[in-house]
Amino acid sequence: MTELELRDLRKTYRARGRPPVDAVRGLDLGLRSGELLGLLGPSGCGKSTTLRMIAGLETVTGGDILVGGASVTDRPARRRNIGVAFENYALYPPLTVRENLAFGLRARRRADRGDRGDVERKVARIAERVGLTAVLDARPAALSSGQKQRVSLARALVREPDVLLLDEPLSHLDAAQRDTTRRELKRIQRDLGHTAILVTHDQEEALSLADRIAVMRDGVIEQLGTPYEVYDHP
Ligand code: ADP
Ligand code: ADP
Repeated sequence: MTELELRDLRKTYRARGRPPVDAVRGLDLGLRSGELLGLLGPSGCGKSTTLRMIAGLETVTGGDILVGGASVTDRPARRRNIGVAFENYALYPPLTVRENLAFGLRARRRADRGDRGDVERKVARIAERVGLTAVLDARPAALSSGQKQRVSLARALVREPDVLLLDEPLSHLDAAQRDTTRRELKRIQRDLGHTAILVTHDQEEALSLADRIAVMRDGVIEQLGTPYEVYDHP
């Protein structure tokens, strides 16, 4: 159970010969332990940049990121216990689904990775929950894009991360799969108590999953409230 706090978080992209881009311009945000925040806003407003900074995949220009009250801003990604499922699922092609899922667990420090049977049990349990049991021994190339997306989600969950970051995690699913996976995702997040940020363009997804919604525009948060407050009282 871990709270997440962003303090005056900033990101400016600088490339030679081009004007700097202020992608994130002072974000202040606190998530309670176990809270799921929906992050919405037009394309280019800074949502992905924000998630990448929290995950440690992008350096921070200014500000601080705290997980469970401790700053992780200067820690590399592997030393933050943050699970990410991004739209462009980066699965390892030579590994089976089972190996892709176990990889995250094995990559952890020896001390807390548990025994082999433990890894297998965790992988089997999460595969069952997201409907991947039948394809555990397949390789990514043999999967549909919907299945790949579910592997990406399962890989984020299997590590039991303190914080879960989801960037359009259901975008490649068809309507029926999206419905089931959304319900299962909510159940898992609630059961396991993940503190989570979900980026989505899907208003129904945000309404059904999020405890609160933040609307970003131009690198800042423009609106913050319950789904009811944001959608009914703009
Ligand atoms: P969103 O996820 O809301 O669509 P992004 O975080 O991807 O927004 O982008 C925010 C702004 O930062 C945009 O103006 C985008 O063009 C710019 N940007 C994103 N990534 C880079 C990058 N690697 N280099 C330069 N500019 C970038
Ligand atoms: P699902 O039904 O689970 O959404 P599909 O297999 O129907 O997945 O894929 C949706 C679309 O994405 C199809 O046009 C398919 O050809 C394409 N697609 C699936 N996997 C890949 C991939 N690895 N690279 C490029 N396109 C893909």
